[in-house]
Amino acid sequence: MLIPRAEIARRIGDLGVEIARDLERLGPDEEVEIVAILTGSFMFLADLIRRLPGPLRVRMVAVSSYPGRATKPRPAEILSRLPDDVAGRHVIVIDDILDSGQTLRLIRAELARRRPKSIRACVLLRKRRSAAMAEPCEYVGFDIPDEFVVGYGLDFDDLYRNLPDICTLRSPAP
Ligand code: 5GP
Ligand code: MG
Repeated sequence: MLIPRAEIARRIGDLGVEIARDLERLGPDEEVEIVAILTGSFMFLADLIRRLPGPLRVRMVAVSSYPGRATKPRPAEILSRLPDDVAGRHVIVIDDILDSGQTLRLIRAELARRRPKSIRACVLLRKRRSAAMAEPCEYVGFDIPDEFVVGYGLDFDDLYRNLPDICTLRSPAP
């Protein structure tokens, strides 16, 4: 076990306070849109947005980078349409984990073409490897070792998403 559930909950509470404070600074008439990257972020999304003040919109976009039983990424691919109507709004992209950074880069670039007022990114986990640490990301829950992790929404072959704690996958099946 890498991060027990109580520690996840505590950190998400702190992240919520931090993001809520930044949102309040925007002023009352600004529109905020959460864009969550599925599937791995669904549990983090559910816990985090309940810590944020409304009103805000929540959208989801499916991106695939570790298909099936892979534990090494391949090029990220957007599997569903990104929201087309983010112009003039403040967008917060939410993902489970920042690894090579290509998912965030792709999503940010695609969203930027739609002319939002701002784009921020929030990830629960960031791997301690140079590509991840170099990628701009406004909110980070935990920096973790460069290992494959599962639980709390993160999967291996769609397994282990229901684990309440974040765990290291020691020996991936061949
Ligand atoms: P990146 O595009 O930054 O390389 O990877 C981001 C995506 O890859 C994450 O949203 C996640 O779906 C997947 N990913 C990266 N590292 C891990 C990991 O350690 N475990 C799991 N389950 N997925 C990962
Ligand atoms: Mg993902």
